[in-house]
Amino acid sequence: MSYAPDTLHRPAEWAAKGTCAQPPYVGSDLWYADEWQKDDRRTAISLCRTCPVLDACRTAAASEEAGKGKDSRHGIRAALTPGQRWSADQKARAKPKAKRGGRRLAPCGTRGAYDRHLRLGEPVDDACRLANNTDRQKRRVANTSSATASQNGQR
Ligand code: SF4
Ligand SMILES: [Zn+2]
Repeated sequence: MSYAPDTLHRPAEWAAKGTCAQPPYVGSDLWYADEWQKDDRRTAISLCRTCPVLDACRTAAASEEAGKGKDSRHGIRAALTPGQRWSADQKARAKPKAKRGGRRLAPCGTRGAYDRHLRLGEPVDDACRLANNTDRQKRRVANTSSATASQNGQR
């Protein structure tokens, strides 16, 4: 197969390996059967299910159609109807939103976690105590050297 002008959209490498790109299915209307052509749709879906590039096809469909409405999705892709792809997209979008609410807590063994333990009246574990001591020492060293610097007029 050759794609003449290099500026045209070029089908992804995997797409050529899809069942729908092989004879006798290449160019078939099975994948674009109307909703009432249930047998054809079922056939397309079952062909997709055994397609060697099903995963790549599903990922591509999800990213190409992300954010589109139900009516802007056409045909069976990756064994899914337009409606099924639309719901999957809705779910994928709802997830990150739920995550955004919760702030990530500093893990134990950091100053942040040590401060949080104190603030919440939680017992302080060894890792956090060590982190706090190390941090305090570092600050002491920093203070000492800046004091020395100012004594020497190096500020
Ligand atoms: S999964 Fe279905 S639509 Fe996707 S490439 Fe395979 S046969 Fe075609
Ligand atoms: Zn801790």
